[in-house]
Amino acid sequence: MANMTPNKCPMPVQDPDVRNKNFEEVALGYTFEMAQGEAERCLNCKNSPCVSGCPVGVRIPEFIALIKQGDIEGAYAKIKETNALPAVCGRVCPQESQCESKCVRGIKGEPVGIGRLERFAADYCFGKGEAPAKAAPNGKKVAVVGAGPAGLTCAGSLAKLGYSVTVFEASHVAGGVLVYGIPQFRLPKEIVKAEIDALEAAGVEIKLNAVVGRAVTIDELLGGEYDAVFVGTGAGLPKFMGIEGEALNGVYSANEYLTRINLMKAYKEEYDTPIKRGGGSVAVVGGGNVAMDAARCAVRMGSEHVYIIYRRSEAEMPARVEEVHHAKEEGVEFKLLTNPVRVLDDGNGCVSGIECVEMELGEPDESGRRSPVEKKGSNFVIPVSAVIMALGTTPNPLIRSTTEGLETNRRGCIIVNEETMESSKPNVYAGGDAVTGAATVILAMGAGKKAAAAIHAKLTATL
Ligand code: FAD
Ligand code: SF4
Repeated sequence: MANMTPNKCPMPVQDPDVRNKNFEEVALGYTFEMAQGEAERCLNCKNSPCVSGCPVGVRIPEFIALIKQGDIEGAYAKIKETNALPAVCGRVCPQESQCESKCVRGIKGEPVGIGRLERFAADYCFGKGEAPAKAAPNGKKVAVVGAGPAGLTCAGSLAKLGYSVTVFEASHVAGGVLVYGIPQFRLPKEIVKAEIDALEAAGVEIKLNAVVGRAVTIDELLGGEYDAVFVGTGAGLPKFMGIEGEALNGVYSANEYLTRINLMKAYKEEYDTPIKRGGGSVAVVGGGNVAMDAARCAVRMGSEHVYIIYRRSEAEMPARVEEVHHAKEEGVEFKLLTNPVRVLDDGNGCVSGIECVEMELGEPDESGRRSPVEKKGSNFVIPVSAVIMALGTTPNPLIRSTTEGLETNRRGCIIVNEETMESSKPNVYAGGDAVTGAATVILAMGAGKKAAAAIHAKLTATL
């Protein structure tokens, strides 16, 4: 008999007044008993609507049934059949708009905590798995460009099929946004590292500090030893507002600020990474998840006040409700219906404040959201010593400018056949943010997996 409690078992979290001073993980994870209680809420529906909400088709009712039976290793193995990075997805997937949005229990209460259970199974089995057996080589070679979730998933899927796979990664660390963007307190880096270690153990070779388009081009990879190339280079180029003062010392893009904190470990005292720390106030411009991550990092770096400046109201904010809630609990102050018009100079080339105007909501625009309209003469100044622009990103132009015949759209995203993920250039496939623009981890993984299947289908035709 299912547990008919209407609400999910709450996730234990660090106290807000403690966690806003450290970079330890905020959500602590379910205990064995909590996980079993939550698993009992699953109705094991025959048509499994939740599975259709997952971009990689995790066999959700089956893994939850194994948790109910106490077979956590079995549950983890079941998830791994379709999802290469369960510990990551259990933490960062926007489950409320994916698998959990389809859960029947959500009609009269809260859906089953699918992501929380996935995380529980992955954490329970952390470090216990045996190294996967390497598949017998099939003699074909594939190059993957970019070691983010799209590239890593494509590489893992192909290695399982016997391909010799080399991943070329521009950075000195593999993982893409999982390591340089999403902060430690939402996704501990040791978890990402363990998932990447497992891929390497399965035979994937990762070449770091290898910028494709500079050290080697896609045309050279294809003309050389590789039978196909998958491009998973993400969308790492930040947008700015184009307002006065954006070149001042103390203005960062969110990507740069988060990279300094996550990848260059600015949050650790023993690292002398240059970054704004302690005292002063910080303005983060934007209302998405990236803005929330930057603001929550700024709080932890000891800033006096941290403001989110967003030109619409809270109802239009693209950030996950849970992230907004956590940010508020940690002391982030929200300046809504507010738009920056100028960053102010302290006279020495450094930021001293941000001038804003008040906004009001007008008619809906093409996105369906009511568009913000400036209230004339409502200018005011917020004194800050740093400004972080979190306004979205687009793909870096390097790949498209160095690859012959690779078609991109007006946003600079690679155009692919959606069935196969093959681009306009034969045997060059692409997926993830490089194709969609900034999206989600699991969509990038789904694309990597789809491309691997299509590469296999095409290359086996010639085996
Ligand atoms: P990326 O993760 O961007 O990886 C691309 C990789 O390619 C990088 O490692 C890059 O260095 C490398 N590369 C680029 N150019 C080259 C080149 N020329 N040669 C070699 N290598 C190259 N999504 C969620 O689902 N949940 C979240 O909570 C979430 N939070 C986010 C928070 C932040 C701060 C950011 C920035 C994004 C967040 N996202 C989140 C979005 C998610 O991280 C991305 O959609 C996802 O990482 C895209 O994966 P990808 O593999 O396409 O690209
Ligand atoms: Fe849900 Fe993400 Fe897990 Fe799929 S991978 S079941 S969308 S949490």
